Amino acid sequence: MRRIDCHVHLVGDGSSGTGCWLRTPNPVRWLAARLLVRAAGLPLSAMKSGFDAAYLESLLQRVRESSLDAVVLLAMDLPYSDSGEALKGKASFYVPNDRVLELGAIHPEFIPACSIHPGRPDAMDELDKCIAGGAKVLKLLPNCHNVNCSDPCYIPFWDRMAKSGMAFLAHTGGEYTVPVLNKKYADPRVLRLPAERGVVTIAAHAAGRSGLFDSDYTAELIKMFDEYPSLYADNSALSTPNRWRTIKKILPSPVVRRILHGSDFPVTSGGFGPWLGRCLKWEDFRAAAKERNVFERDAMLKSAMGFPEETFTRLDGLLS
Ligand SMILES: [Zn+2]
Repeated sequence: MRRIDCHVHLVGDGSSGTGCWLRTPNPVRWLAARLLVRAAGLPLSAMKSGFDAAYLESLLQRVRESSLDAVVLLAMDLPYSDSGEALKGKASFYVPNDRVLELGAIHPEFIPACSIHPGRPDAMDELDKCIAGGAKVLKLLPNCHNVNCSDPCYIPFWDRMAKSGMAFLAHTGGEYTVPVLNKKYADPRVLRLPAERGVVTIAAHAAGRSGLFDSDYTAELIKMFDEYPSLYADNSALSTPNRWRTIKKILPSPVVRRILHGSDFPVTSGGFGPWLGRCLKWEDFRAAAKERNVFERDAMLKSAMGFPEETFTRLDGLLS
């Protein structure tokens, strides 16, 4: 079984003809983008020239030097209105499906995850194209992409995914790095329909709170596990100071048997939050702080906090 990180972002500026773009329309997003570039291990000067290539090189090198065998590399679609129009002005970054498919074909370390709003006029054709191109996962942020995943008109879309064995990674809970279009779709209950249709559905961040005043949906998600055997959650970004509270809720058995390892790279952390919250021992916090590889550091932190080895290999079984 491969050790997999199920939640890794690709970001680019199109400088290598990748079709990726990144927008920082206000000071908060400008700052967030710079913090993420530094967290990805890149100098800020990389944002001015050749960011596409620099980001990819840094990412690939870190994955290869880590104890992981592969990472799920995420495309990023545009949000769409309820009537199916692309809302380019509401997006902060874009990564075309072709880019992750191309990288997945070249590098065995990358498991390509496409991103398709199911309300797009060409959604089914794009889904078929991505399945044929080797996509194993579909990624969406329902609250940011404006997707009511439980709208019955999306049944054919979820059925096509279930038939091909493609997993669905869906953001749940609050979000601050990407503009939110529809707050109520942060609730994991919006994922009932894909889970009901048999799609392996993964609630990213285990539906926990991101900001101080966010709703916390982890208890709802845990209740849903009984009802939907194909529903899972990832532990991505949970080592950060704002999300560590979710850890204690998902570690006890049997909930942990539904958890998959994910980092949310380039969102990284040294584990200060979990240490403060007594999820992590001081010596484990110090040992992780010495690790320069962010993928390895995140994996070390998760293991030290008690996430079993199966959380790393579970996705490989689900995809095969
Ligand atoms: Zn993410």
